[in-house]
Amino acid sequence: MKLATRILWALALGAITGIVINIFADNWFKPLDGYIFTPLGTIFLNLIKMLIVPLVFFSIAVGVANIGDPKKLGRMGGKTMAFFLSTTAIAITIGIIAALLLKPGVGGSFDTTNLEYESSEAPPVTDTLLGIIPANPIEAMASGDMLAIIFFALFIGIGVAALGEKVDIFKRFLEQGNEIMMFLVGLVMKFAPIGTFGLIASAVGKQGFDALKAMFLYMVVVILALALHFIVVYGGAMKLLAKQNPIKIMKEFIPAMTVAFSTSSSSATLPIAMDVAQTKLGVPKPISSFVQPLGATINMDGTAIMQGVATIFIAQVFGVDLSIQDMVVVVLTAVLASIGTAAVPGAGMIMLAMVLESVGLPVAGIALIIGIDRLLDMTRTLVNITGDLTCALYIAEDEKKRELKNA
Ligand code: ASP
Repeated sequence: MKLATRILWALALGAITGIVINIFADNWFKPLDGYIFTPLGTIFLNLIKMLIVPLVFFSIAVGVANIGDPKKLGRMGGKTMAFFLSTTAIAITIGIIAALLLKPGVGGSFDTTNLEYESSEAPPVTDTLLGIIPANPIEAMASGDMLAIIFFALFIGIGVAALGEKVDIFKRFLEQGNEIMMFLVGLVMKFAPIGTFGLIASAVGKQGFDALKAMFLYMVVVILALALHFIVVYGGAMKLLAKQNPIKIMKEFIPAMTVAFSTSSSSATLPIAMDVAQTKLGVPKPISSFVQPLGATINMDGTAIMQGVATIFIAQVFGVDLSIQDMVVVVLTAVLASIGTAAVPGAGMIMLAMVLESVGLPVAGIALIIGIDRLLDMTRTLVNITGDLTCALYIAEDEKKRELKNA
């Protein structure tokens, strides 16, 4: 059986196990989760996480060293950012429009009297941006600070390219380090079916189904908007910009999508997403290594969609009318918020507070959606990483065209 098929089976089995225990054997959940599901999931998660920092460092440094030409690097960087920002703005607009049309917060019975939400301080976006330059690269690596690691690796790559022959042994070291990391990703992925089973059984088993009923329409709206963005924007970009068959691409990408779904973490999905892009989808290594880690960290369309729907939902529940200007503010803030969102489970919720505050909506409204957010987090993380892949495919096609023209 192919790995993708095995993971999908594991996913289904995990979900069924979680649901069955949740409904019929609730008191069994704690021991089963504590001794089986969570440990299995954590083994898998830690195995992947172990590879993220060295993989990102090696692959970006090698990628940039091979691109060499700073002009080309700048051009790719500019296009990548333009793609990320515009798709995120489209994503949040889709979320807002879907929520305005389907009105998930109107008519339901939501008790808003005793809502409480302890909002942890969302880091100011300027901090995120300034934090890109690591005063101490070792510290950045030790704390897994992705943007800072990317920045440092970029610099090392530029240095290696500039010094050429002089540092050829170091360059080979980076290349071989990268090879080893990619090999290890393949190895760890063999454990993916078991890990996925554990993660999903645990997540579904924990879920309060009563909360699901009340929030059903909200969830439907988020999922519809995610699906629309996925099919129309990514499918369209794959076809028109990257000149690829979207169905074929998505099929190959299933292992990465399932890992995103079960871990709810873009950064944990990064190793496998890069592996698929480079080995199965023909994205040149320098491009994949540059675009995907950057995307996993700052490009979060799925998160932006949730923030759009959630903002309108909370406005509807609290009976607040948002003006067109307010909505523009929401779009701009959510684009920034999704850049600042860490690529880990639940981070999108923390940044939602910032979006709500930007238009004076009660942050306590988050208490309504937080209970069911884990399930949506799974789906939006899948969208988040597919967006990064789409961008990598587009940049690859664009660079290919440019090279053919220059040849
Ligand atoms: N879990 C998401 C991710 O890692 C972020 C979020 O929306 O919470 O991509």
